[in-house]
Amino acid sequence: MTHVCHAIGCDKTVPPKKLFCLPHWRMTPARIQALIWETYKPGQENRKDPTLRYLVVQAMAVAAVATKEKRLDEEPEKFVLRRIWQILPRMTDDDIAFVGRVYPTLTEADLEKLRVTRDNRAMGAGGDGT
Ligand SMILES: [Zn+2]
Repeated sequence: MTHVCHAIGCDKTVPPKKLFCLPHWRMTPARIQALIWETYKPGQENRKDPTLRYLVVQAMAVAAVATKEKRLDEEPEKFVLRRIWQILPRMTDDDIAFVGRVYPTLTEADLEKLRVTRDNRAMGAGGDGT
């Protein structure tokens, strides 16, 4: 099974533990590179069990690189929030606090909305978050 660079529009083959090919990794803001390393757990690419925090940071990296390459037709934050909506039911309060820490533009009210939406969905209230 081949593993390709996660950058939008890139099809370079990279080792499974690598998020991006080297050129795209070099385009990744240093702050996000550091978060990738902070949330990466050795062997996750084999176990297929990346943490939710890693998935959030991965989305941030993909959005940041795609924005630099003008491949994103929406705000990078919207791209990341869509990813967060997908994994929200599994997120803990700590995970949501982590999102607030890495995403300074999100307000406490935004984070509360995430928590409330998650809890509503857990109770079977439905809704797709849009
Ligand atoms: Zn690439």
